[in-house]
Amino acid sequence: MDTAVERAAAAVRRARHVVVFTGAGVSAESGIPTFRDALTGLWARFDAAQLATPQAFAADPELVWGWYEWRRRRALAAVPNAGHLALAHLATRVPKLTLITQNVDDLHERAGSRDVLHLHGRLHRPRCSACGLAYSDWSDLPAGADLPQVRLPPPSCATCGGVVRPGVVWFGEPLPERELGDAYAAAGNAEVLISVGTSGLVYPAARIPQHAHAAGATVIEVNPEPSGIAADLVLTGKAGAVLPALVDAACAL
Ligand code: NAD
Repeated sequence: MDTAVERAAAAVRRARHVVVFTGAGVSAESGIPTFRDALTGLWARFDAAQLATPQAFAADPELVWGWYEWRRRRALAAVPNAGHLALAHLATRVPKLTLITQNVDDLHERAGSRDVLHLHGRLHRPRCSACGLAYSDWSDLPAGADLPQVRLPPPSCATCGGVVRPGVVWFGEPLPERELGDAYAAAGNAEVLISVGTSGLVYPAARIPQHAHAAGATVIEVNPEPSGIAADLVLTGKAGAVLPALVDAACAL
């Protein structure tokens, strides 16, 4: 049967290097809201300019830190879904897989994926806004972080006393150089790129599928509402259903 899933699986099976590029949609079925979905998206309910910019943090650090701690609590309470698990499994079955994510929730790691390239930072890796020291084991959640608008003072850096800030990339900030470079290099080298749950609207990350396509990769999009990125194959549906089907078909003998 020559369905789109079968054709995508055949391309994955042939590939020596598969790149997977994920956005907020891969975590939607874990209960983490996307940014842009009209009814449930985070930015439909909160004003980005007040919460996700360096200016916002400078103006009201307690509001911004409290909001990110609330998001971090929600991410910790969530569990990886069948889509995250299928991608972790696929990495064990292909010669090389590079997983690039725009997500900050660490659900790929919790599903078992390794060496994930995080383009937009991580909720669980805050860092000092003065000396840059990154806190890699940030597990304490303050009481009272259950509400989106709880005000919490950001902690002080153990080394220099500076203000610790959320470990994410805010609007107007550059993406981490090493991760972005590695992501472009992988996209330029892959035979297949699978784009999952991203609207393709946030740049420069959104250029990665275009870059892979221009370099000759087969681009496969997984999305219930395809985004219009340059895709050779579109698998219309939710990540939690489509990815297990694709990975099963790709791994079948
Ligand atoms: P986005 O909100 O712009 O787009 C989400 C996309 O996911 C849409 O195209 C939507 O149709 C699709 N989608 C919704 N449910 C899906 C499902 N079950 N399966 C597959 N696809 C589904 O998100 P984006 O493109 O990632 O870009 C915006 C920014 O969102 C990124 O910068 C990212 O850092 C940030 N973000 C991350 C998280 C997270 O860590 N989970 C959550 C919200 C936003």
